[in-house]
Amino acid sequence: MSDELSFEIEIPTDNDGFVLLQCPLCGEFFKLAPADIKADDVLEIWCPNCGLKSENYITDEIRDLALRMAKNHVQDMIHRQMKELERKTRGGLISFKAGHTPTAEYEPPVIPGIDELEVQNYPCCKRQAKISPSVKLTGGYCPFCGVSYDEHK
Ligand SMILES: [Zn+2]
Ligand SMILES: [Zn+2]
Repeated sequence: MSDELSFEIEIPTDNDGFVLLQCPLCGEFFKLAPADIKADDVLEIWCPNCGLKSENYITDEIRDLALRMAKNHVQDMIHRQMKELERKTRGGLISFKAGHTPTAEYEPPVIPGIDELEVQNYPCCKRQAKISPSVKLTGGYCPFCGVSYDEHK
């Protein structure tokens, strides 16, 4: 794929500066601060609910938006090429007419979402995350080092 197909999606933070993530394995939502996600000493992220590591924690919403944006981008590109062809062939033996501008897929605004998540402190890494009250109750795992916060320990 060429560079033309690259685009960025801004994932907004909530009022406390956390971004919403979702574990692809258990579907659990949690929030981390972007600064922590990008920190040099944070190489991997553990799901605070199931305690497993995943490649990425993009929410379905973001994945869906990325697909829509990619589709719109490609449609745009094709339409522009059609227009170009139309311009070039005008008045010639063969003429070419581009169709209507394609209707773009709706690109919904990304909302930070899930407000019921609560801040949890992880003394092991001196960092914070927002997790669901039920995970908080059972302890869960530190998203930054995978250590178990199981209350039975
Ligand atoms: Zn999980
Ligand atoms: Zn930790």
